[in-house]
Amino acid sequence: MLRRFLPAACAALLSTSAAFAGEPGEWALVIHGGAGVIERGAMTPETEAAYRAAMNAALERGEAVLDEGGSSLDAVVAVIHGLEDDPLFNSGRGAVFTAAGRNELDASIMDGATLNAGAVAGVTQVRHPISLARAVMENSRHVMLQGEGAETFAREQDLEIVEPAWFFTERRWASLERALNRLGLPIPPRPEGAPEPEPVDHGALERDSREHRFGTVGVVALDRDGNIAAGTSTGGTTAKRWGRVGDSPIIGAGTYANNESCGVSATGTGEYFIRLTVASRICALVELQGLSLQDAADRVIQDELTALEGDGGIVALTAAGDIAWSFNTPGMYRARQSEGGEPVVSIYGDED
Ligand code: ASP
Repeated sequence: MLRRFLPAACAALLSTSAAFAGEPGEWALVIHGGAGVIERGAMTPETEAAYRAAMNAALERGEAVLDEGGSSLDAVVAVIHGLEDDPLFNSGRGAVFTAAGRNELDASIMDGATLNAGAVAGVTQVRHPISLARAVMENSRHVMLQGEGAETFAREQDLEIVEPAWFFTERRWASLERALNRLGLPIPPRPEGAPEPEPVDHGALERDSREHRFGTVGVVALDRDGNIAAGTSTGGTTAKRWGRVGDSPIIGAGTYANNESCGVSATGTGEYFIRLTVASRICALVELQGLSLQDAADRVIQDELTALEGDGGIVALTAAGDIAWSFNTPGMYRARQSEGGEPVVSIYGDED
């Protein structure tokens, strides 16, 4: 299958962005696993290999759906399910903790064919928050549910409910302790049902604290019918307080999809992404100003987000199968694949 590479002027100028184009009627998929201070040499070969394997597995899950002619919504959910179960990422199991020692999970999904959308914030017992977001979209009159009400709806929808300790990982708990010590805040008791404390790798912790809060996951998929879907799932930011909600469950900020323009999933310090309505803004630049996807993404991330001193990145695609990513952090876990093309998995800013 032919894969046309755009004369990626931007990619040449900015190592942290890249544009790729597909063929009509073919599926395409782009995934992120969080952006941050992810630097060559600061990661052990084992950790790097584990992330690359996880991103490859994520592509395979998406490919399995799309290659069978499945919908982009099904692909987004299938990919995110796996990432929500993988403790490497800050979503589902492995999510970061609030200052009160809880995992409060946010997720959203959008259907680019209908502009239907669903989102949840602050859920603590739903194994796959992305499925709850989809249930909100498909089976309720609402777009966004939060907290206890969202959990009640999850039970009514027969979604899988787990004990809060399901999400616990020692690595994230240790990161919380470090963050709270830095902030001069008290350390809460370990969550009920959490395993006995285990020794943690302090080198890895140091790297985590440099990576800071990132590890959110997001997917944008295009199916053979030309429909785009986008989804994002996160535990938010370490030591968040007062019911803080970031951009990930905010339609237009962390997630957006519209067949007429593009689909986007974001990761980074959510407050900036909300203020810039990053995801819908990129699509608006494509639709209303005729910018290429890559130029639109770079304008918002490299110029506008950077000017606000925000940090993070996005992955995006169009109904024509153009794929782009852009980030202003040293790295972003990311992967892409187009029908008939080779899978690409990258971490650092100097990779494709
Ligand atoms: N954007 C997420 C939030 O602010 C965090 C992240 O992407 O790492 O909640």
